[in-house]
Amino acid sequence: MSVAERYAQLRAAVPAHVTIVAVSKFHPAEAVREAVAAGVTDVAENYVQEAQRKFGQGEFVEPRKHFIGHMQTNKAKAIAATFDVVQSVDRADAATALAKAAASLGKRLPVLLQLNISPSERFGCPPADAVALAQLIRSHESLDLQGVMAIGPITGDESEILAAFQQAAQTFERIGGTTLSLGMSGDWRLAVQAGSTMIRVGSTIFGPRPARPASKNTAIHHSC
Ligand SMILES: *Cc1c(COP(=O)(O)O)cnc(C)c1O
Repeated sequence: MSVAERYAQLRAAVPAHVTIVAVSKFHPAEAVREAVAAGVTDVAENYVQEAQRKFGQGEFVEPRKHFIGHMQTNKAKAIAATFDVVQSVDRADAATALAKAAASLGKRLPVLLQLNISPSERFGCPPADAVALAQLIRSHESLDLQGVMAIGPITGDESEILAAFQQAAQTFERIGGTTLSLGMSGDWRLAVQAGSTMIRVGSTIFGPRPARPASKNTAIHHSC
């Protein structure tokens, strides 16, 4: 099946009010081009250097570009310059670095607060600290907090996944906003059931991920 066929099938299965973000990490620019031609409006990458190589030619102006990787503060400037939305603001120093970078670019950057709802996930703000972090993000003029992102637990137990997503939905209600980014290829149905407004889908659209690109310019510290 082609990328276009895979996307059409997914779009037909997902409720219309839910945004599909196509996660293109490790896939070539050609695959992104195919996805955009098929109607994809939002794309996401985990690594800023890979995204700069892929988007740097200026040919992908139309899709909204989301950063969904771990936010290193020393990459804040590059992230703010390359992406339209940053979904992975998970701590105060990341928010502060990103706010400074966005301000220096004269940008007001849409962001999501990344919540940790899974024991298998290293990053993300604990739900108990989320309201305080949201207040801190909102104190920065150059950041526009639009909601919450979270990665579900890696388990075959669907009730555990659903419970984690419901916890994220409750925290989202306390924080406010328009966007609840929950769900990936394997668990988006449960995420939508819990109230997700945005799913981040890689392999269902692009097929299995190729090995990560071998390049000395690509600093990839953890695999996915
Ligand atoms: C890779 C990734 C995805 C997409 O994963 P698939 O299982 O291929 O759909 C979604 N969200 C995040 C944060 C990711 O790192």
